[in-house]
Amino acid sequence: MKTTAAADRLKSLIREVKDFPKPGINFYDITTLLKDKIGFKDTIDALQEHYRHDPIDIVVGIEARGYFFAPAMAHAFGAGFVPVRKPKKLPHSVHSVEYELEYGTDTLEMHADAIEPGQNVLIVDDVLATGGTARAVTKLVEMAKGKVAGLGFVIELEFLHGRSKLDRYDVYSLLQY
Ligand code: AMP
Repeated sequence: MKTTAAADRLKSLIREVKDFPKPGINFYDITTLLKDKIGFKDTIDALQEHYRHDPIDIVVGIEARGYFFAPAMAHAFGAGFVPVRKPKKLPHSVHSVEYELEYGTDTLEMHADAIEPGQNVLIVDDVLATGGTARAVTKLVEMAKGKVAGLGFVIELEFLHGRSKLDRYDVYSLLQY
């Protein structure tokens, strides 16, 4: 963010919920930011500002909370929006990627024809934690021969070092914890 005061104002709109969804997790609840007229607008404007010199063709949102921000950003850029979804939700041919979780694995899918080769793609989610999810989505974009122009997050949990999994890319977050 441009100033600490602006960042602090947005942080004050984010509700921290201890031990959700399980003990030991401090959950950053962005629904309290979304419902604030000025807070939501400032969030989208500040994310868009960072990429204003990049020609963005597609904004990819990650299910589910990435969907709260990615379509508004796509609208602001005059770009298209593409959803990355959990398995078996998309009706047509998909690219699929499996990635590691703390316990076990998970899968994400994107329509195989969602991105045209060479398109500039911005990936958006609410929180960058360990970076596993975002890394998986970069793979989906590259399977479709899209160019990852950057990854944008509202919140970055710096102590989890998610950025290190994304060091080939431009990673930008508005608020750091
Ligand atoms: P990761 O793959 O570890 O970077 O996790 C990223 C995904 O998990 C994002 O889609 C977030 O929505 C969610 N997430 C992880 N940790 C938190 C947290 N402390 N509060 C809210 N969401 C989180």
